[in-house]
Amino acid sequence: MSKVTVRDLDVKGKHVIVRVDFNVPHKGDVITDDNRIQAALPTINYLTEHGAKVLLLSHLGKVKTDEDKAKNDMSIVAKRLAEVQDAPVTFVNATRGEELENAVKAQEEGSIVLMQNTRYEKGESKNDPELGAYWASLGDAFVEDAFGSVHRAHASTVGIPSNLKEVAVGFLVEKELNVLGKALNDPQRPFVAILGGAKVSDKIGVIDNLLKIADKVLIGGGMSYTFAAANGGKIGTSLLEADKEDLAKEFMEKGKGKLFLPVDTVEANDFSNPTEIKTVKAGEIDDGFMGLDIGPETIADFQKQLEGAKTVFWNGPMGVFEDPRFAVGTEEICKTLAGLDGATTIIGGGDSASAAKNLGFAEKFSHISTGGGASLEYMEGKELPGVAIIPEK
Ligand code: AMP
Repeated sequence: MSKVTVRDLDVKGKHVIVRVDFNVPHKGDVITDDNRIQAALPTINYLTEHGAKVLLLSHLGKVKTDEDKAKNDMSIVAKRLAEVQDAPVTFVNATRGEELENAVKAQEEGSIVLMQNTRYEKGESKNDPELGAYWASLGDAFVEDAFGSVHRAHASTVGIPSNLKEVAVGFLVEKELNVLGKALNDPQRPFVAILGGAKVSDKIGVIDNLLKIADKVLIGGGMSYTFAAANGGKIGTSLLEADKEDLAKEFMEKGKGKLFLPVDTVEANDFSNPTEIKTVKAGEIDDGFMGLDIGPETIADFQKQLEGAKTVFWNGPMGVFEDPRFAVGTEEICKTLAGLDGATTIIGGGDSASAAKNLGFAEKFSHISTGGGASLEYMEGKELPGVAIIPEK
């Protein structure tokens, strides 16, 4: 089964609303990484080249106060968008009203209007029905291409398509669903999942589902210490979610033979200003010390478990990789994955994606998801509301 895609729509001369993910990292007016804009271009270019009048909607950052509004003004994206593709771009500094409606009405075929940040509207995150219906009234068709937002039922992701007949996914969402869907439903085996990051509580669903579908699940990062504690190990002042120890035990029981935990750890006496750094066996962390990275034996063991893998899904760093002293585990795992021959290697967005990019390995992966939260929920087996609303062909 596959979703209706933008290729299935007749878009010439029509007003097509596209929900894109322009939630780009920025410092002031400077966009520090325009990857998300680039990732939206195949759909945008297809539509402008096929004579659509394109209305782009996206959120940018979190918007609660007027100060947040000023910080997350979509006009910075409009400038970059005009630089990276050929169609004319009109930015509308409004999320409703005459200025927006007139700009849309005045559009020529092949032109683009980019609206101000969807989150300037309080009703966006609540999927306010009036707002979804209003935005839908500005278009004839809707294309869902914001993979990073499809796990959220908002007015721009679900409200608009609920009000229109002609709806489709864009090329980015199509590609994400193809790659992640294959890993989830019909992976080439062996399928190895590597999970890291801070908390068990953020990844319960995904650990649970991957234990069912993957051949091996390797766990590193901050969440591994809750597992070590559940095993009766000493974890010093490492990250611990005491209320998740029973769950960790359950996972270890269910995952016998396929769940792999660190065998050693790099510990330090302080998080931000460490003066003593040592490698110790997992579960033997010294009092007053905390585990901040996987150790060399764990790296070697994880590398062994990855030998011959045909599908790999990776989400979450193996340690506090923001500090180079504790980035070794994440870097070594990243290098190992980049060097796997003949395997489909997928990074589920977020920090692991940044690590791969910073190390210059991004090109070596089969797929780096543009949606951390969305790819995790998808791999949990959850329905993504922004995808569910688009019909199958
Ligand atoms: P997540 O968003 O859950 O993937 O978590 C990413 C964060 O986990 C990063 O900021 C890492 O610094 C942090 N992290 C990874 N390992 C550890 C650890 N051993 N102790 C504390 N934080 C960690």
